[in-house]
Amino acid sequence: MEELLQAAVAYYNNGSNNLRELASNFFKSMDTNRDRRVSRSEFVRFLQQSGYNINPYIFNALDRNGDGYLDFWEVLTLYYIIKTRLYHCADCGVRLLGLYFTCVECFDRAGDTYDLCSICYSARQFRHSHTLFLDNHMLLIAKRRQARGSHNLNQVLLILFLFLFLTEQGSGLSTAPLNKRSKKRVQGMRTQPKPP
Ligand SMILES: [Zn+2]
Ligand SMILES: [Zn+2]
Repeated sequence: MEELLQAAVAYYNNGSNNLRELASNFFKSMDTNRDRRVSRSEFVRFLQQSGYNINPYIFNALDRNGDGYLDFWEVLTLYYIIKTRLYHCADCGVRLLGLYFTCVECFDRAGDTYDLCSICYSARQFRHSHTLFLDNHMLLIAKRRQARGSHNLNQVLLILFLFLFLTEQGSGLSTAPLNKRSKKRVQGMRTQPKPP
């Protein structure tokens, strides 16, 4: 949830006034007694009235310090989830909040995508006619490489897989400990501006 919160804050900080206002109105529509925090009962009532298909138990995950209330940034995280995390695992049905895998062939077609949570993809028990899946990050890299060159997507994927398994550096999956500068950057990301 921390990563989603950081993404929500980043979009908010870089967003237009209109986007900030929408987020602020979203918070206000939940904070019915105007005490600038959202209790569990306000949260549940909001979900019932708004019709969003969200499991109320997400409150516990959003409430980072476990004080029984959501602050503006925690509610902003929910707003971000509602607006951007629209897909569910095709196998187990869980809403895909973090990393997930998508069928490359279905992705390239105009229709619905076929997406799997990492647990279902790892377990290999799903039934689907296509076999090539990529996580969102790898898909982005593959698309960029495809756009740059004349390769077809399968050639690009072959290059990417070789890259992933033969070079640690190329995959971006370095297991080396953080140096001082990147540590500082990670710590810096925890600081958030004051809510409006
Ligand atoms: Zn699943
Ligand atoms: Zn497919």
